[in-house]
Amino acid sequence: MKIVVLDGYTLNPGDIDWNGFKKLGELVCYDRTTTKKEETAKIIDRIADADAVITNKTPITREILDSKPKVKYIGVLATGYNVVDVDAAREKGVVVTNIPTYGTTAVAQFVFAHLLEFCHHVAHHAETVKNGRWAKSEDFCYWDYPLIELAGKTMGIIGFGRIGQTVAGIAVAFGMKVLAYDEYVDKSRETDSIKYASLDDALAKSDVISLHVPLFDSTRGLINKSTIARMKDGVIIINTSRGPLVVEEDMVEALESGKVAGFGSDVVEVEPIAPDNKLPRTRNCHITPHIAWAPKEARIRLMNIAVDNLAAFAKGSPVNVVNK
Ligand code: NAD
Repeated sequence: MKIVVLDGYTLNPGDIDWNGFKKLGELVCYDRTTTKKEETAKIIDRIADADAVITNKTPITREILDSKPKVKYIGVLATGYNVVDVDAAREKGVVVTNIPTYGTTAVAQFVFAHLLEFCHHVAHHAETVKNGRWAKSEDFCYWDYPLIELAGKTMGIIGFGRIGQTVAGIAVAFGMKVLAYDEYVDKSRETDSIKYASLDDALAKSDVISLHVPLFDSTRGLINKSTIARMKDGVIIINTSRGPLVVEEDMVEALESGKVAGFGSDVVEVEPIAPDNKLPRTRNCHITPHIAWAPKEARIRLMNIAVDNLAAFAKGSPVNVVNK
């Protein structure tokens, strides 16, 4: 079996190994190919004689699958699999798998890295101390932003799946109440502190909103001018799911007006971010370069599951298939 990894660098910049895949076949591993859907020729050329294609963010479009590559298997090195046209793959009998659970705890932890930055601005205050301001201060303390205590506040979790539920557990540990919105309701997940709510209620009653729905047509643009208008003034929004869940120009406007007091996002509509994207230069907006998934512990789990997925496919009983 010939296995082509189209963009292996972000999973493994050199601190873990590809040996699991090497045991399954002949491995060709490119650090990167392209993230642009238009650059199909380069992608087609690289996968032309591959039996199995492994991609993280290199798009596999209908046009690519129509070019009649030999490929029978596409392994996505991520939870979100919107880079692959799964309908086109299904029609052509190509199995597509994802990695459902490797990053749940890492992403949930990262939600709070963003949130706590808005609560305390640790890096900013440490910088002022480094620059000598505390040593010259008349008072024993000072702060440059309102400091926020989370206990007693409400977090709206939009998408109460694996990551959403893990975020809820941490929020409760901080003393928060949780309003969970999901299209599937499982009342057994409710506790004294965690209750299901309608989307409207979760948006309207939350001090913090954390996005965990996948990117589907039904969720694209979910956070827009009109849904933001229904939120509390001064809401903090965290997006660690997918950039296009948020209409970016509406978010810029809401941050500039102060309606949204903080937007922490690990993802943007176009990645890598476009040089003229206004978000990073908008007040109270912190954008990180899609790193929630990337602690080494999580990447090792991801690599092991990706290898297991391909091994299961090779044995004729594929697992983690997203286009049945
Ligand atoms: P999951 O499938 O366990 O949970 C998603 C939840 O969303 C499910 O409960 C589902 O019922 C719900 N849902 C789907 N469509 C909905 C809709 N239209 N309305 C309401 N609810 C809807 O997925 P997960 O493991 O929690 O991951 C969530 C997302 O996080 C992934 O899709 C991926 O995009 C993103 N992610 C980001 C990173 C990162 O590094 N930033 C890493 C891993 C995952």
